[in-house]
Amino acid sequence: MPWGQHCGPCSVCSHPDVRAGSDERWATVTSVIMDLDERTVWLSDGNPCLHPHRPLTFDGLLDKPSPLLAP
Ligand SMILES: [Zn+2]
Repeated sequence: MPWGQHCGPCSVCSHPDVRAGSDERWATVTSVIMDLDERTVWLSDGNPCLHPHRPLTFDGLLDKPSPLLAP
């Protein structure tokens, strides 16, 4: 689904319907894109059509020794 498409509650990017009651409104609060090969995650701080994704990297995270394997 293209990012610019907003087609209701099943949309990737949902905005509150101001016509609905306050207990019947919902919205996308974040969006996550993962590149498992690059070990990078992009997060949006709200609706992805309004807030650009910012990258989070995990460089070195998996290189650390596991505390579960410590003697
Ligand atoms: Zn949107």
